[in-house]
Amino acid sequence: MDEVKKLSSSERTNIVEQNWARSRAGLAPLTVRVRKCRVCGVMFETVAERTCSDCKRIVERSAVASLQGFEVI
Ligand SMILES: [Zn+2]
Repeated sequence: MDEVKKLSSSERTNIVEQNWARSRAGLAPLTVRVRKCRVCGVMFETVAERTCSDCKRIVERSAVASLQGFEVI
């Protein structure tokens, strides 16, 4: 049984608003799909991300740390 990390309601609202703007501009709407995080393997809802929100935070933090010259393991 796989648990899926759902989008937060604010993220959903954001997508709905973007889709409204996209339809006005004649663009295809964004679709939410379930993907597997490439880092931790958890199933999560996303439009375009390949890493879940938790891993993304960690990746961003380590990117910042490496810019500051710290070794991140
Ligand atoms: Zn993850």
